[in-house]
Amino acid sequence: MSADIFARLLSVPRALPPDGYATHEVMNQATPFTGHNAFTADRLLTEIAEREKIAWAAERLAETGRTVASAHVAGLARDANRHTPELRSHDRFGNRIDQIEFHPAWHELMSLAVNHGTHSLSWTANKPGTANKPGAHVARGMLSYLWNQGENGICCPLGMTYSAVPALRLQADLAAIWEPFILSTRYDPTPAPMHRKTGGTVGMTLTEKQAGSDLRATQTTARPATSRRGPSEAYLIDGHKWFFSAPQSDLFVTLAQTDRGPSCFLLPGWLPDGSRNRLQIQRLKDKCGNKSNASSEIEYRGALGWLLGEEGQGIKAALAMTHLTRLDFAIGSAGLMRRALSEAIHHACGRRAFQKALIDQPLMRNVIADMAIEVEAATLLAFRLARAVDDAADGDATARHLVRIGTPIAKFWNCKRVVGVVHEALECHGGNGFIEEGPMARLYREAPLNGIWEGAGNVVALDVLRAAAKTPDAVAAFIGEVRIAKGADKRLDRGVDRLEAELQRPEEREARVRRIVEQMAVTLQASLLIRHSPHAMADAFCATRLDADGSSVYGGLPLGIDQRAIIERAQVL
Ligand SMILES: Cc1cc2nc3c(=O)[nH]c(=O)nc-3n(C[C@H](O)[C@H](O)[C@H](O)COP(=O)(O)OP(=O)(O)OC[C@H]3O[C@@H](n4cnc5c(N)ncnc54)[C@H](O)[C@@H]3O)c2cc1C
Repeated sequence: MSADIFARLLSVPRALPPDGYATHEVMNQATPFTGHNAFTADRLLTEIAEREKIAWAAERLAETGRTVASAHVAGLARDANRHTPELRSHDRFGNRIDQIEFHPAWHELMSLAVNHGTHSLSWTANKPGTANKPGAHVARGMLSYLWNQGENGICCPLGMTYSAVPALRLQADLAAIWEPFILSTRYDPTPAPMHRKTGGTVGMTLTEKQAGSDLRATQTTARPATSRRGPSEAYLIDGHKWFFSAPQSDLFVTLAQTDRGPSCFLLPGWLPDGSRNRLQIQRLKDKCGNKSNASSEIEYRGALGWLLGEEGQGIKAALAMTHLTRLDFAIGSAGLMRRALSEAIHHACGRRAFQKALIDQPLMRNVIADMAIEVEAATLLAFRLARAVDDAADGDATARHLVRIGTPIAKFWNCKRVVGVVHEALECHGGNGFIEEGPMARLYREAPLNGIWEGAGNVVALDVLRAAAKTPDAVAAFIGEVRIAKGADKRLDRGVDRLEAELQRPEEREARVRRIVEQMAVTLQASLLIRHSPHAMADAFCATRLDADGSSVYGGLPLGIDQRAIIERAQVL
């Protein structure tokens, strides 16, 4: 470039406006959705809390609702998912350490949620033998629902720790040692044995390369470490696990074959001398979503474990835990839907197109109202089951049957529906929804996961069939629950009749079971909406989900439905 041209270029900037680079004023963009209270501003959630008489937990829930919706937690969630966990297999001197290194944001999130009792409240609210605080599983479920709106990755170790307690209690001596430690509300990530820590978390490691859903095909083996066998005796465990989330856990539940069949074992992460129990973390999984949470592949090489339940009865023992993780995923999926819906409403209120706020465009109202109905139904379903868990714990046999059949129904259905809701909520944001700086892309990648772990859709649907076949009282409990709203809406009455006919058809039940479970879920949701929700909500649900007047995409609500009332109810202010 000649000096002459360069001199002419230098004269150009003088023609620019004084602020240099500005080409336009930033306008018509929504703001971050933070600073509200995800509990107190959620009408449905507060209604359920009142109905289930958990005023004793209101302060804790309000504090959690404020925390999860804060800008601070939004920043932590972003950081924990951008700076993902790393495996440190060895220290710098070459010693094997098998530790996971997390960003500080992960630890802060865990600390906040553990401090709220998100992993423990169901078990700590009442002392054994007393139930002066009703609805302990509902209250803890609400903490989980709220944290699933804050950061989903941490909900995996929290949910597993909560769910491990019934499996742990199969061995009273082990429960006496470990329960106070894992129910502690003082988060302590130190990689050390329990006597050097203030609290710990639990992982669950069942899945192997050749055996995921079909746990009987487990190849990992266990043999007595001494000449004695049975409860209170140590076993040596060898083999591999293909998925192990939260391998930093202090304690984990695993499945291994003895000569008596698949058996359930409890393994401490660290041994009393401070060494790692004999397991090696091979690598961390590179996942589609759930990035903040570490999921690993491991090998046991003579790891020490203790029996939970009887030898050969391991699948039954593991199911004691799985049942509650499934409930937690039904709740968590409803929480994730709630977050996506709230983000969509917030965006639609803050963005204009074609001379109107998006929320005032008739078609956008239809989409959002339709999603709001879905979220209300998912939330009612999840917390009805949580309440049944409380009632079952108090000795109510009907509730026990409802839990048995209702938990896989809620897990199947909420985990299916969350994917569509999050997708649609993302689309409400237009292009911004697809960009990683906002939360929607992360929620979208998270959405399918609850449908996979702890039993993928088919497996969970088949479990409903198993419950129905083994326990006729479970079907009766379910139909009894649905029929509470009998006579209130003809569409529900017709829906229950159809369902009963469907349940009685003997041919090819297995091939038909997804449709049956869907019908069961929707019929129960309709019954709950009719009993507990405003008329507009229940009416719209029955019209679009029970009767044929529904669309397969959100935004197909027929005319005559009070969409404004539905959106106002769902709006978190
Ligand atoms: C991110 C992530 C973290 C995980 N963390 C853990 C963990 O911490 N601990 C752990 O133990 N596992 C964990 N898992 C594993 C998870 O639980 C399994 O992936 C799941 O149970 C399915 O098992 P699988 O992958 O072997 O699939 P498969 O069992 O091979 O199933 C594949 C498909 O076949 C279907 N199917 C299976 N049987 C039938 C049948 N009889 N009829 C019709 N369809 C059928 C299933 O529904 C599924 O759709 C994790 C998975 C993921 C993705």
